[in-house]
Amino acid sequence: MEYKICSKCVMDTTDPNIHFDENGVCDHCHDFENNVKPNWHTDDKGTYELEKIITKIKGKGINKEFDCILGLSGGVDSSYLLHLAVKEFGLRPLVFHVDGGWNSELAVHNINVMIDKLGLDLYTEVINWEEMKDFQLAFFKSGVPHLDIPQDHAFVATLYYFAEKHKIKYILNGGNFSTECVQYPMEWFYYGTDMSQINDIRKRFGTISMDTYPFSSIYRHKIYLKYIKGVHVVKPLNYRPFIKEKALKLLEKEYGWKPYPQKHFESRFTKFYEGYWLPERFGYDTRKVQLSSLILTGQMTREEALAILSKPAYNPETIVDEFNYIATKLGISSEELRRYFEMPKKFYWDYKNQQNIFRFGARVMNLLGIEKVVKRKK
Ligand SMILES: [Zn+2]
Repeated sequence: MEYKICSKCVMDTTDPNIHFDENGVCDHCHDFENNVKPNWHTDDKGTYELEKIITKIKGKGINKEFDCILGLSGGVDSSYLLHLAVKEFGLRPLVFHVDGGWNSELAVHNINVMIDKLGLDLYTEVINWEEMKDFQLAFFKSGVPHLDIPQDHAFVATLYYFAEKHKIKYILNGGNFSTECVQYPMEWFYYGTDMSQINDIRKRFGTISMDTYPFSSIYRHKIYLKYIKGVHVVKPLNYRPFIKEKALKLLEKEYGWKPYPQKHFESRFTKFYEGYWLPERFGYDTRKVQLSSLILTGQMTREEALAILSKPAYNPETIVDEFNYIATKLGISSEELRRYFEMPKKFYWDYKNQQNIFRFGARVMNLLGIEKVVKRKK
């Protein structure tokens, strides 16, 4: 396919399913105008809706130790959400963190200052490192782009484990249109909860049994916990203006929080994976998605985004050390890691998967009006 970049945002043909109208505007931009914008209210209507939700959360939480749950990665979205939840909404969240072995020093610092200043307890789930390592290596050996599944899946599973254990009905989620209205293409990041894919890759490339790693299937948390147990996910950042720069300033000033060079860089693994592995092995630069969201929501100009994209997401001076660090930590030689980098590319469809079930579920949710924002057809 001939290279083409959207005339409005910075998404381009590295997204294999992108299409353009006669003015060179891509479908992500149209999705934003047609599906996100009409359902996104950060004015009085949003404030009113959010107040109603907060009242409900408090009501359900009476006489309970916690009224909601929040996962803290140390990134800006979850940190800012925690600030709002406690300081502005007056909620009593159970705050948890999943330690998959890759926390950057910055992330540890940011989590600690938030917890200390807010006077909260932190529930930390430490993933067994031998299992984590084997799981991550299995994904490397499989050749697919979505190497972040072992980290992501543990987070989701732990979230639902704590929610169920403490009978918490509301999950606060830092997801937001303001910085994430453009979706990652399916080829770049596949569903982290597709157990059929996870099991297939583990069976073929895993070498140890995973007895303690937390697993959760889509059936369990999307159907059983949601409809039978009545667990709701709330995204408060969508009900009020959320300007990333302002949020950062507030966190720095009030908590001594320190910013990262790029979204998701709180994990050393993700930093390597999104900054180097994905763009260099697959040509997938996640900054295009993140910056396009900022352009569409008026937080950055297209020119500023293009200037950022003209430089690599990794630091060329330190990348060799970084590469060796990742290999050493995974218990393999740099040569072995290099072999995985150079092996033929594989994708989610090269392994067993339940994509049809995910697709069907999304269609039913849309038809029933449960999921209001129509997602791009994959
Ligand atoms: Zn576009």
